[in-house]
Amino acid sequence: MKASIIIASNGRRTILQRAIRCTLEQSFPPDGYEVILVLDGCKEPDWCEAERQKARCHFEVICEPKRGQAASINKGLRSANGELALFLDDDILCPPDLLFKHVEAYERHPGQLAFGPILTSEESRASLATEWIRNRNDTWFLETVHENSECGWCFSFANPNTSASRALLLESGALDESFWRYNDTEFGFRLWKKGLRFVYLPDATVSHVVTESIADLAGKHAYEEGRGEVRLCHKHPEYRRFTTLGGLSHGRTLKIVLRRMMVSACALAEAVLSPATLMANALRSIPSVRRAGLRMISWRYLCHFYRGAIAECGSWKNFHDEFAQRLPVLTYHRVGQAEPGEWHALSVSKSRMQTHLAWLKRNGWNSITSSQWLAWLESGTPLPPKPVLITCDDGYAENTVDAFPMLQKYGFVALTAVVTDRMGQTNEWDSNAGLPRFQLMSAEDVRTWAANGMEFASHSCSHPHLPELSDAEVAKELAVSRASLNAAAGVDCNSFVYPYGEYNDQVCDQASRHYRLAFTLDPGLNGLAGNPFRMRRLTVSQNDTPLDLWFSITLGRNPISAAHRKLRRWFSTRDTGF
Ligand SMILES: [Zn+2]
Repeated sequence: MKASIIIASNGRRTILQRAIRCTLEQSFPPDGYEVILVLDGCKEPDWCEAERQKARCHFEVICEPKRGQAASINKGLRSANGELALFLDDDILCPPDLLFKHVEAYERHPGQLAFGPILTSEESRASLATEWIRNRNDTWFLETVHENSECGWCFSFANPNTSASRALLLESGALDESFWRYNDTEFGFRLWKKGLRFVYLPDATVSHVVTESIADLAGKHAYEEGRGEVRLCHKHPEYRRFTTLGGLSHGRTLKIVLRRMMVSACALAEAVLSPATLMANALRSIPSVRRAGLRMISWRYLCHFYRGAIAECGSWKNFHDEFAQRLPVLTYHRVGQAEPGEWHALSVSKSRMQTHLAWLKRNGWNSITSSQWLAWLESGTPLPPKPVLITCDDGYAENTVDAFPMLQKYGFVALTAVVTDRMGQTNEWDSNAGLPRFQLMSAEDVRTWAANGMEFASHSCSHPHLPELSDAEVAKELAVSRASLNAAAGVDCNSFVYPYGEYNDQVCDQASRHYRLAFTLDPGLNGLAGNPFRMRRLTVSQNDTPLDLWFSITLGRNPISAAHRKLRRWFSTRDTGF
């Protein structure tokens, strides 16, 4: 037999009979496929016998004791006879040529997984819940997946309308039955890691008849999804960066505080938002009310989603340590006496740096390496409390005299970004522009300080303005600098620091091919949801007091210096105005 269509159901969907009928009426040769319905903890409905009599293809109904969706799908997979398994669901309606399209894809791409879009049906319950699902899912299929279809998309198995060789799915261990939710995403991720690639079939569309109420969508289901995502991350730490779990600590501090307050006081928020959403649902024909209602559903969804995630982690602290860390990255350049005509943030005096380090130490901040941050980002390896990453740009030789021994004294490390063609020479990129000339670290210095625990990153070969270069020149700056650092000083670095903090999409994309992290000069803090090739940093200057440092390191911005800058600008415009 060529193909088996497998549907698992707990028998509650009113649409089930129609969903089954669509599968029985496929235009595929009837002796070439079968339909298997696995009922999870319920009896065979009366209409099944009538459908079986009418069906031209083989239709089998299996009644299982209640063991969850994954166990039912696995049962269907094992009982099936088809070479190809196509998964559908009990609330999905499919066109007559769906199986044809999947079989065609299977023959064209054997050994791969094929999937098509699931768009919200017009027959869905008319409510804001349906509209919310339509906005989220349909957009995902029509935009996100379509753009990424060439390389495949490992989360597509999170949905029905997916097909693959049945033998291959069974060999891969089938669905993990301990996963109540996200068992399909988990399997998809496992298959992806095994090297299976996914083919997107934009024309193999099915429609999803939404019957969920707002309360179920934004309450129970959201909570279970939060739990499911955490479990998925525990099993596949590589999945961490693709989840929405990091979203709780992403963005402006005020937003983060509000989000956290809402999650903490979920019951209270629910008491206000629940009747307000119902009212918005009743008045959804008014555009502004509809928009407000959809936003309220999102808030309620996130509230329950994070509560589920926190429950799965065991405590708020565990959740924070695992998913909501925010890393400040401080940027120093040269530590030494400022020279006349120097750029104001280029030098910080020895005594000022000493004040900063002493303050960090006293307040319990722990300096970490970029490798520690990567290990947390990629696999959740725990970080010490209050982590901070210290970076020193350009690799000034003077730093080896005062700054590095001082960092060592406090038990801190720093990531120094070296311009590899200029090691042992001077900062020509600045001095050519009329700024003072300083000696840079030699390869021998880099080797010595790497042996003493300091970390190094590439800062390109020649400190150019990368966005102004051709793709080939950018690639050379990225690749050759990493190789030179390795060859000259025996240091293999996995981080890159953009010269002048300048980058664009192309430069970022190239950096991601040669490194695992790249640092900008964009202010802010870093978290799980941020782009690892657009790491934010906080530039430290000679004028920064411990209070300035506190603002930067906890808020990701310094409102005092921002106000200063605004005032200065205001006075200067007044001066010119008069
Ligand atoms: Zn630089």
